[in-house]
Amino acid sequence: MTFFKSMHPRNRYKDKPPDFAYLASKYPEFKQHVNVSLAGKAGLNFKDPEAVRELTCTLLKEDFGLTIDIPLERLIPTVPLRLNYIHWVEDLINFHGSDKTTARHGIDIGTGASCIYPLLGATLNGWYFLATEVDDICYNYAKKNVEQNHLADLIKVVKVPQKTLLMDALKEESGIIYDFCMCNPPFFANQMEAQGVNSRNPRRPPPSSVNTGGITEIMAEGGELEFVKRIIHDSLQLKKRLRWYSCMLGKKCSLAPLKEELRIQGVPKVAHTEFYQGRTMRWALAWSFYDDVSIPDHPAKKRKLEKTRKPLTICMMETTLKMLKNRADCSDNSEDISVVTDFLKKTLSDLKVQHKPVPCGNGEQSLFLTAIENSWVHNRRKKRDRMRQLREVPRAPDQNFLLTQKAETQAEDEETSVKSATLDEKNLSTSGSGDTAALPEDIAPESMEEDSRPLPEQVEDSSTQDQVTEVDERDSSEQASKVPTESPQPVSSSNSPFLFKCVMNIKKEATTVLVELHWVEGHNRDLMNQLCTHLRNQISRLTRS
Ligand code: SAH
Repeated sequence: MTFFKSMHPRNRYKDKPPDFAYLASKYPEFKQHVNVSLAGKAGLNFKDPEAVRELTCTLLKEDFGLTIDIPLERLIPTVPLRLNYIHWVEDLINFHGSDKTTARHGIDIGTGASCIYPLLGATLNGWYFLATEVDDICYNYAKKNVEQNHLADLIKVVKVPQKTLLMDALKEESGIIYDFCMCNPPFFANQMEAQGVNSRNPRRPPPSSVNTGGITEIMAEGGELEFVKRIIHDSLQLKKRLRWYSCMLGKKCSLAPLKEELRIQGVPKVAHTEFYQGRTMRWALAWSFYDDVSIPDHPAKKRKLEKTRKPLTICMMETTLKMLKNRADCSDNSEDISVVTDFLKKTLSDLKVQHKPVPCGNGEQSLFLTAIENSWVHNRRKKRDRMRQLREVPRAPDQNFLLTQKAETQAEDEETSVKSATLDEKNLSTSGSGDTAALPEDIAPESMEEDSRPLPEQVEDSSTQDQVTEVDERDSSEQASKVPTESPQPVSSSNSPFLFKCVMNIKKEATTVLVELHWVEGHNRDLMNQLCTHLRNQISRLTRS
């Protein structure tokens, strides 16, 4: 899974990262910064501030119709990350679930030279903004960027003194209730931290993009932690003057102490999230003094939900299909789907997994499966025991001997099954709920991978958590040990009369046949994983026999 895939679902770059080649063909100024690799791939040098700036300006023009100027010596925002935050604010204020014609008012604390959040929020959603800034250069550029995009009716840029955050900016304003405030605070406490010296992970390589921020942009006394604490303290006075207070964080380790601060202060509603962009991650925190606000789902929860909704898949390639036909003595012209379905039905019957056909689309077959007992794990062991019984002279059962035998068989069983699953499966591929099939990492142009400020924080790759490596039928995941694999008995002793139910779809795709297992209900989804692995092993055996 690429990080682009983990972006906010509404982020326009989620499934469509910027196309450098296309942008270069349309924008000559951008083209100057694009280099083409030997493989013909268009790329950008992210260590060059001019290239980074040109990319941001080009994307804002192409995708939002915005024309902006940013000085090289000030922070250059990356567009996909800023969009993630805008979309999260939409979630917080329930912008999509409610009447969009109601005027929404927001505050951007430290808007930067680009004035990017107000420009995006006003263009996309028609939001009103009060944008604050301490730095003269940023303030002047921000004002100019608003004016040249004819957005002065929606966005008001104000210059504030350094010591202030929300209080002073709001003194001047009428008593309207703001829907939200957002802030991308200066991350670092000092020059050392800005250079990554204070990084939690000393092995982390230097950032691959340039740090373009000016002093007030990247540094504040006490770093982002103190900066956000100051916003929290302002919010304790302003309370319901804003419905949501929010901040982006450059360091994950800032999250816990800030949440603790909110807890100590008795703030009733707190939400947090993660933003992904290229290989860079950011975090965000929001809090509210309103009881009626709803907290958007955390992305990890959403990913988990998506994962349970995704089917497990087995892809049967041409050679496997041929083997199957040979085995079944069918002609080459027989329908692939029927041959596969017959094979699966037979295997399921052997496993005592109930299956009955259910209606489905044209060119597909669908079976409703009910697994009563966990026979797939024990099958091999049972077979081996039968063979052993045939070879061995019957003797009086000795309890110790039986126990040793059981342990040995189990160990052997594990070894065999790992081996069989790791054998070269030339024409068979499976993917689990997290899609083990490799996604082309390089669909994400490097460009979007780093914010222009380096971060002293290790990036966390949640994609690895999502992967399900289906190797051993008994051990598809940690959870497997919690299910009653030891007892081949029907689970009649428990309340439910079945282990799990699922729907198996068998579909023809060009030259292959795709088998999908869709979870319906049951004890534990890992049981379906195990069954899927068992089927995969059976199919893989076909090509080896
Ligand atoms: N919002 C922009 C810029 C973020 S950098 C973006 O996301 O790209 C942080 C900005 O906060 C800088 O422009 C800095 O000058 C400004 N800043 C620092 N202290 C501030 C304060 N007390 N009040 C308002 N702005 C401040």
